[in-house]
Amino acid sequence: MTNETWGEVRENLVSAVGKNNYVNWIEPLELAGLEGGVATFFVPTTFMGTWVSRNFGDDIQKVLIKAGEPVSRIEFSVPNQKEPSSKSVKQEVEAQPAPESLAKPSAIVGGEELPGAPLDSRFTFDSFVVGKPNELAHAAARRVSEGGSVTFNPLFLYGGVGLGKTHLMHAIAWELRTRSPGLRVVYLSAEQFMYRFVQALRDKDMIAFKQLFRSVDVLMIDDVQFIAGKDATQEEFFHTFNALVDQNKQIIVSSDRAPTEIDGIEDRIVSRLQSGLVVDLHPTNYELRLGILQQKVELFSEQFPNLEIQDGVLEFLAHRISTNVRVLEGALMRLFAFGSLVGREITMELTQDCLADVIRASDRKITVEEIQRKVSDHYNIRLSDLIGPKRVRTFARPRQVAMYLSKQMTTRSLPEIGRRFGGRDHTTVMHGVRKIEELMQHDSQIADDLEMLRRALEA
Ligand code: ADP
Ligand code: MG
Repeated sequence: MTNETWGEVRENLVSAVGKNNYVNWIEPLELAGLEGGVATFFVPTTFMGTWVSRNFGDDIQKVLIKAGEPVSRIEFSVPNQKEPSSKSVKQEVEAQPAPESLAKPSAIVGGEELPGAPLDSRFTFDSFVVGKPNELAHAAARRVSEGGSVTFNPLFLYGGVGLGKTHLMHAIAWELRTRSPGLRVVYLSAEQFMYRFVQALRDKDMIAFKQLFRSVDVLMIDDVQFIAGKDATQEEFFHTFNALVDQNKQIIVSSDRAPTEIDGIEDRIVSRLQSGLVVDLHPTNYELRLGILQQKVELFSEQFPNLEIQDGVLEFLAHRISTNVRVLEGALMRLFAFGSLVGREITMELTQDCLADVIRASDRKITVEEIQRKVSDHYNIRLSDLIGPKRVRTFARPRQVAMYLSKQMTTRSLPEIGRRFGGRDHTTVMHGVRKIEELMQHDSQIADDLEMLRRALEA
């Protein structure tokens, strides 16, 4: 594909991204090259590359694939920089640059090219923040990445969009390749698997296809739900799967839902998929989101060294954006971009302006009264006891929980909260909030209660 044909292809993006975005972000892209499944675009600034990649990368990839280009990754580079153009945007935002030898896009072992997709060098274990919702998936991924004897096969990771499935898979692949450089580790999406398969059929090259896939040591298939309803691809996947399991080779599969919930997949495949270890990534909780934000801020601050963030902004974001991590990252990215454009500290006010749309989407004003009702239901006590003067533990603890949640989830001040709890003093509220913060650290029952209540309130 040349830059001219790209000029035509890109017009298909107008409807996906909207006219404004198209003019601002897509039109300025110049196709620099297309090789080995990697499409490279020239962009005027590194920031623009990062931005486009985050926001429109998937859409661009889709139109390229539709136009007949088997693109598995998109890269951006800024021409005429001091550095060679291979210093891509991606590398500038990555946490810990992978060693040069690992950053090569395709896996070449012994001169023979393996059929995998390139790995994103940002997706490592180091950059993966572990919290309660993902600790099991993380532990399983770690275990598999140590190599050695295969204990569960396959490892099946599932969870909603943007919760870190792809990140974990890439992390496993990086780790395995670092530990055992000779190992044939192949990562690809189910869609790419199908594409390869169809291509092999068309080229009457099935034997080579089979040989290639049966000769890998570790096979990772991302987003396996994609093969639902695609019978021939399923059939081939099943045979590949069985052949590898028979040879005791590790298989890792991800999906957006549990094996039994994927419609349009044959029963024998479902039962195969379940035969190893099935672990899910739960929706993020507040602590995990805050942890991720703090980590990203550290990364971004290399790119935006003069930018200051006011206390409370990250906490605010972690509360307000409870969808997926990708949205969270995008929001932070936009905030940094905005902050650096206007050249001043990122305050709460700036945050609310700049992210109005994202916040509005997950916005629902929660009231102290609502919190009190939910908490008294949860602990099975009367609302009047929750608010009233009795100081026995059965009422006092739920009361402190409700105070804590009121402080966290509403914009009410301590005196205002105190007033709603039977006219208590603001120091009493503060004491309650502190008490719960302290308890949360080692009392997992309280931590679970809070998480449940918070989810119920946010729902
Ligand atoms: P999925 O494949 O589940 O849809 P991804 O693995 O693509 O999600 O994750 C989406 C984005 O969120 C990626 O940029 C990823 O690095 C980031 N992300 C998700 N979970 C975490 C985590 N626990 N720590 C750090 N980054 C995360
Ligand atoms: Mg994914």
